[in-house]
Amino acid sequence: MKDEFVSVVSHELRTPLTSIRSALGLLARGSLNNQPEKSQRMLEIAFDNTNRLVRLINDILDIERINSGKVTMHKQTCNAADLMIQAVDEMRAMAEKAEIHLELTPASVQLWADPDRIIQTITNLLSNAIKFSPPGSTVWLSVELQQEGEVRKADCVEKNKFTTPPTSYLLFQIKDQGRGIPEDKLETIFDCFQQVDASNSRHQGGTGLGLAICRSIVQQHGGKIWAESILGKGSTFYFTLPIG
Ligand code: ADP
Repeated sequence: MKDEFVSVVSHELRTPLTSIRSALGLLARGSLNNQPEKSQRMLEIAFDNTNRLVRLINDILDIERINSGKVTMHKQTCNAADLMIQAVDEMRAMAEKAEIHLELTPASVQLWADPDRIIQTITNLLSNAIKFSPPGSTVWLSVELQQEGEVRKADCVEKNKFTTPPTSYLLFQIKDQGRGIPEDKLETIFDCFQQVDASNSRHQGGTGLGLAICRSIVQQHGGKIWAESILGKGSTFYFTLPIG
């Protein structure tokens, strides 16, 4: 798996590097000396691909550090509503530009989590929802408190067996009315560099690492993350965070 990762990473890094090299090569050789518009275009290509490389390297390092446990989550008591409001504030400009209506249903529940990393997860999911939705549509962010194990506990008490107490967790939902995700991709999109339509996603500035980072963060908090979708109708991303 490590070999495969290295080969995928080197491919992903080489692609923008090759573009930068050929654009700068043309300029360095003076082939475009009398063509200011083409020269400008080559500089833009080199600049955009440099930004892509920076994003890729930052994301790869982020995943590697989280997965290897080198980055510890700075967990503290925080309020779910505050995290949601902050994430939505960060995404408002992008949503306005894409003409997407953002609707927030927060809940004031305390949880033990790394606030920056949870905001990073929510903004990532909101950014995807906005990217893959048509103008004029709505993206919803909501949260609800859920209990796990209550039924099991009742069962076991009746049978006089020992059982663990029910755990409470928060269920976050990010729902969109976008293009949707094919069923066979609902799980693979959480792997590194997996995109449903790579050319389209890259055009949107995506690296294919966002969901892998979200999954690492959520798992480091003892939660789960998954997606449900109806093609052409929209997608809902869910993640849970245990609170007790
Ligand atoms: P990217 O940087 O490409 O957005 P992600 O890991 O965040 O990388 O997402 C991987 C892929 O999952 C995207 O390229 C896209 O194909 C698909 N995807 C993610 N979120 C959505 C969504 N809300 N609607 C449709 N497709 C999505």
